Amino acid sequence: NNKTYPVPEGNEYAGNSPINSTIPEQYNNIPEPSSPGTINNQNSTVPLDYTRFINEISSKRRPSQLREIYNLVQNLPSHSIKLGVGVPNVETFPFQNISVKLTTGENIQIQGDELSEALQYLPSKGYKPLLNVLEEIQDCFHGSQNWQNRTIMITSGGQEGLSLAVDMCLNRGDPIILPDPIYTGAIDLFIPYDPDIISIKQDSCGVIVEEIEKQLTERKKNKQPMPKLIYLNPTASNPAGTTLPTHRKREIYRLACEHNMLILEDDPYYYLHFEKEDPVSFLSMDTEDRVLRSDSFSKIMSSGIRVGFMTGPTALLRRMELQVQTSTIHTSSVMQVMIYKLLSQWGKDGLTSHFMHVRKFYKQKRDHMMIAVKNHLGGLAEWSEPTGGMFLWLKIIGLDDTKRLVTSRCLDKLVILAPGYALSVDPVKPSPYIRLSYSLASPDQVDRGISLLAEAIREERQL
Ligand code: PMP
Repeated sequence: NNKTYPVPEGNEYAGNSPINSTIPEQYNNIPEPSSPGTINNQNSTVPLDYTRFINEISSKRRPSQLREIYNLVQNLPSHSIKLGVGVPNVETFPFQNISVKLTTGENIQIQGDELSEALQYLPSKGYKPLLNVLEEIQDCFHGSQNWQNRTIMITSGGQEGLSLAVDMCLNRGDPIILPDPIYTGAIDLFIPYDPDIISIKQDSCGVIVEEIEKQLTERKKNKQPMPKLIYLNPTASNPAGTTLPTHRKREIYRLACEHNMLILEDDPYYYLHFEKEDPVSFLSMDTEDRVLRSDSFSKIMSSGIRVGFMTGPTALLRRMELQVQTSTIHTSSVMQVMIYKLLSQWGKDGLTSHFMHVRKFYKQKRDHMMIAVKNHLGGLAEWSEPTGGMFLWLKIIGLDDTKRLVTSRCLDKLVILAPGYALSVDPVKPSPYIRLSYSLASPDQVDRGISLLAEAIREERQL
């Protein structure tokens, strides 16, 4: 049956938490945020105390009283008399049906009751049928989850999930662990909190675990405040193109448990890796309910539909849900229903074959760019081959700073590149790196662009 998402048997990483308690509504009244967290270990049956991870603002968020009542209304019989529900009547909306033709030739039709749902407000957590399908998908790719302690919430792209997590967790000046280089959309979320950044260098396999361990040990020894969050973009990272191997992830997860940290797993390129096996996620090894995982449909379905989803501890996602109740209210219902229809129509097999198609597309583009850089940039730059995604991270030999190379010399030649400083945790520091993307350019443009880049590097070096 290709319509279901079966859970792989014998998955050694099955993320079933040993903690069996249900998450009570008491999390609406989170205790004082400053009280210390309880450090768990894998054998513990005591649920993690999340107070350490919820800042004062977030702890003060209260459920929108009316939205909570509407959640109850959803379960009442249809003949109940809705005099108190303040939503517009869909009969007044000008849409008769929504019909979408897929590139596979299939159609998606949204009509009748589904159309009414697609045109109306939804619970802030998301469209229930979509949440159910996403639970199956997470069970399938990340091992069977304990859906009592863990929840999914739909977000407007992965970015909203990250933003909600950071706004829930950080206090001004908090120490945080960040990879260097880093996705600009992440560093820009952290900066307004004036964080004490513990930046961790990356090698060709991603962040170097010994560096994390060393920094944590030193801070502990010096009695400095300890970080409560580590942000990582583990698969085909933006911009470095690195994928963290499982053994490094296990070590990082161990450190997160030892030092009572959350892991913010920003993984929008998870389905875009070029390896034979799917990566083993932090979520799949999360026996202590300390991973907040952000997924996104942006890179595999459409970046414009703005649908992503966050998976993590129910207590924390509840805090984020309360924020969404007062910000966007929820991600577009039309897009949620559309993605639901697509996923249920395709089932696991259809989805997997779509992933394969997208991966093949990017892998061919990566391979072509690798040939071009080998042809033109020998002796001018160093790189490691991207493991997925759409980015190549180049270190320019003989230049300490690529700012002028990118923003002047290459622009003059109409070649657009991303300068390394913009993707560094310290944007003021000069960077010898640049980021290239193989997503959009045609093979000819890649060849021409990289030969012009080589020319620009030579010119810049001669100065
Ligand atoms: N994380 C990373 C690492 C990204 O590269 C991006 C998009 N560039 C995002 C998150 C956010 O993407 P979206 O909101 O479209 O899902």
